Amino acid sequence: MSNVQKKSDVILIGAGVMSATLGSMLKELAPEWDIKVFEKLDNAGEESSNEWNNAGTGHAALCELNYTTEKADGSIDTTKAVRVNEQFQVSRQFWSYLVKSNLIENPQDFIMPIPHMSLVQGEENVAFLQKRFEALSNIPLFQDMEFSDDPEKLKEWIPLIMEDRTQDQPIAATKIDSGTDVNFGALTRKLFDHLEETGVEVNYKHSVEDIKRTSDGSWEVKVHDLANDKLEFHTAKFIFIGGGGGSLPLLQKTGIPESKNIGGFPVSGLFMVCNNPDVVEKHHGKVYGKAKVGAPPMSVPHLDTRFIDNKKSLLFGPYAGFSPKFLKTGSNFDLLGSVKPSNVLTMLSAGAKELALTKYLIQQVLSSKEQRMEELREFIPNAKSEDWDIVVAGQRVQVIKDTEAGGKGTLQFGTEVVCAQDGSIAALLGASPGASTAVQVMLELLQRCFPQHIKEWEPKIKEMVPSYGVSLAENPEMFREIHTETEEALGLTVNGPINGAESKSS
Ligand SMILES: Cc1cc2nc3c(=O)[nH]c(=O)nc-3n(C[C@H](O)[C@H](O)[C@H](O)COP(=O)(O)OP(=O)(O)OC[C@H]3O[C@@H](n4cnc5c(N)ncnc54)[C@H](O)[C@@H]3O)c2cc1C
Repeated sequence: MSNVQKKSDVILIGAGVMSATLGSMLKELAPEWDIKVFEKLDNAGEESSNEWNNAGTGHAALCELNYTTEKADGSIDTTKAVRVNEQFQVSRQFWSYLVKSNLIENPQDFIMPIPHMSLVQGEENVAFLQKRFEALSNIPLFQDMEFSDDPEKLKEWIPLIMEDRTQDQPIAATKIDSGTDVNFGALTRKLFDHLEETGVEVNYKHSVEDIKRTSDGSWEVKVHDLANDKLEFHTAKFIFIGGGGGSLPLLQKTGIPESKNIGGFPVSGLFMVCNNPDVVEKHHGKVYGKAKVGAPPMSVPHLDTRFIDNKKSLLFGPYAGFSPKFLKTGSNFDLLGSVKPSNVLTMLSAGAKELALTKYLIQQVLSSKEQRMEELREFIPNAKSEDWDIVVAGQRVQVIKDTEAGGKGTLQFGTEVVCAQDGSIAALLGASPGASTAVQVMLELLQRCFPQHIKEWEPKIKEMVPSYGVSLAENPEMFREIHTETEEALGLTVNGPINGAESKSS
């Protein structure tokens, strides 16, 4: 092994959708900055961002029931749904900017329109869905949502789900046509192609093994060039740790105070994929149900039409499970290795608190294919085992930290940026709502890590994301305008008018 020393302005660790997004933004805001990327695998978007490793839902709270909760007085709290929707509008605007500026092409390779639906059964759940529908349809962001508890209407919307269904309890659904299926793998690869074209040095098969502060306040990364079995040392003024599940161990190596008392809880996932084209053709939509009692929010079952490699597919899941790995390609020692003197109490507290979740996940891992088919049959009553195969999805590493509300060792289900106080290094942890919110998350990271540049960058940020700094929920006119513009730029025009604006059929 030999040593090489190199300097740059920015180092991005990991070639997933988060580094891709941050790199693409920085290239627009500070084109003269020298950016380097290190990715341990041999291509971009191979871990969680890969199309087969996530559900590809453009999370806009159009169908995910866990983004709206029922308050003690029986009314519906829409705060989170509005936030998630606004975050997705931000992503749509940035992607549209990239397409309109010819920085990436053929948006249909990574985003397709697909109705988003929520489906529930039982009197109580139907009443909840109706109330949710009423609360959301008053908000412009959700205006075209439809509700039905009429089985005949549902047969039109979801024929595969209604076929051979015994109607022993009330059933209802909501539907909104402006939902999307996003191929985050294709998007990530497109963004990395674009970055390479603009001179960003993307080093595949390069694993970052250590991160240290240098005497002048920069950061040095120790990189293992896996192809040549060589060690390299690179320094940069700013480092983004976008290693997905691999971010936590790297953050711990920085030794920054913000990295203490944080742990990670890995959750694995499986999907069922349909191999019968006749069945695939009978369904058109992303249909989200309700999570089972005791199940974590990331295991809400859904039956999804997906567009992968220009082909329509049908996936069901995800089935959550437990694996000690932090990445799909990780090691069985990842979880153990992440327990440090600085987080051992946090981790032990979480272990004690989350026994029920751990038990649930282990039970899920031990389920047979037939047991999984039974869960699928709650959606497709006549589903046949031979039409479905199991595919392993990506790993999520949920953040464990000490919070005021939850106490020591509280499991978090969101996405979290951990940043050094001086803004010189930041890491992205957690996985939900995930890739859909990449643009908003990276805008917030820019504000925290580059406060000295934000004022001068603002006009360009507003060109990339016209709603920057504005609440679209409170500005319905602006929302309609932006929605129509992004719909056209991304080729998302669906039949019929959206939110009162005339839209062309594609
Ligand atoms: C089952 C499942 C379903 C999901 N569904 C959705 C969904 O429907 N919609 C949605 O918006 N989000 C979804 N997500 C979340 C989404 O996939 C993630 O939030 C997103 O892909 C994370 O991107 P990332 O760039 O942070 O990580 P990744 O895509 O995992 O990329 C991290 C990269 O860093 C590399 N790396 C790690 N360690 C090192 C190292 N030491 N040196 C060099 N390289 C390293 C890895 O090889 C990898 O390529 C889902 C996730 C899962 C697991």
